[in-house]
Amino acid sequence: MTWCDRCNREFDIGLVDDQGGCPACGQWLGDPPSGGSVPWHFWVVVTGAVLYLGWRALEGIVWVLQQIT
Ligand SMILES: [Zn+2]
Repeated sequence: MTWCDRCNREFDIGLVDDQGGCPACGQWLGDPPSGGSVPWHFWVVVTGAVLYLGWRALEGIVWVLQQIT
């Protein structure tokens, strides 16, 4: 938890914005927990999921084309 003097209330550190600012007033409260943005392994997972789903979609299209020809 981190304290905001301007709002006079506590916030979970996970709620602060990208720059480590208060979610309510923007006052800088401290460094954000993950260094700012989404962790790199999140994008690895997203890329993998997109590639997999894209491949499955392509397979589905090919299957449909085979059924109608
Ligand atoms: Zn605040």
